[in-house]
Amino acid sequence: MRRRKTAIFFLVLGVCLSALAIALNVGWILLNLRQVVLLVIGIIFFALIITGLILNTIFLVREIRRNEQHDTFLNSVTHELKTPIASIKLYLETLKTREVDDTKRSEFYDVMLADSNRLLNTVEQVLRAGRIKENAASGGTATLDIDAVLNDAVSTVRSVYNLDENAIKFFSAGENIQVKGDQDELQSAFVNLLDNAVKYSDGEPKITVKTQTAGFNNRIAVVIKDKGVGIPSADLKRIFRRFYRSDNFRNGAKGTGLGLFIVKSIIERHGGRVKADSKGEGKGSTFLVQLPRA
Ligand code: ADP
Repeated sequence: MRRRKTAIFFLVLGVCLSALAIALNVGWILLNLRQVVLLVIGIIFFALIITGLILNTIFLVREIRRNEQHDTFLNSVTHELKTPIASIKLYLETLKTREVDDTKRSEFYDVMLADSNRLLNTVEQVLRAGRIKENAASGGTATLDIDAVLNDAVSTVRSVYNLDENAIKFFSAGENIQVKGDQDELQSAFVNLLDNAVKYSDGEPKITVKTQTAGFNNRIAVVIKDKGVGIPSADLKRIFRRFYRSDNFRNGAKGTGLGLFIVKSIIERHGGRVKADSKGEGKGSTFLVQLPRA
């Protein structure tokens, strides 16, 4: 809130300064009509000052926005770290201080395991996002079967969220499609996309994953479609930015805003592209990933 006020202050300051400069310039022209050369030089300087002022204001506003995003990011990461730790601690304390029967005990273990996975996931996301700038070079060089990568990603997400076969359906284009790359990275990209599809579904997720080759010159397309909350059209590009979280129709799902940033960098490192599409609120989202065939 304070940042927003600062941004508004600088905007008003920028506008006032520009108005003042214009008034100065007009007065100056009226007083010095004859000194044409000076006038021209003056106008040039004036234009430079104005441009500088405008750039300065834009820069300030951008910086303030970025800081805001960093704050939100820190808050959400702290939350994502704290919640599972608190939960694990609670279960451990219960196990230590009370007599718990075997079924309950194994239930507790399952919850703790799920919490540790969530914790590990958050830490991995943050580390991965940090590494992205370091090795901006190409992805791996192994030849991978895209169906196998996708099947693995689908079963990972199914087991994390305890989903049945109908929640995520995979339709392969049938051919033995291969891509070059790093198995772990590509899998993590698809897990991220599927994880979002589940997270941003209202109620029972209904997700389809399809591979296509027709119409994509020497490329393969993977289409991940959900029937969830959808994405506002103004955000379709922004959601791939680091820390960006669209909050228009978000259903309270937790996250760090790093997932799609990681997905984009991984796919681009593999020579591919990723795009989001949505018809709007409540109308679901579609993510299209294109990768070059091996
Ligand atoms: P996070 O999920 O941690 O917030 P992401 O980078 O994975 O971060 O996603 C950025 C934003 O994009 C999310 O906050 C959400 O608003 C939006 N988003 C991503 N995937 C979907 C989806 N399948 N349906 C609707 N919104 C989505």
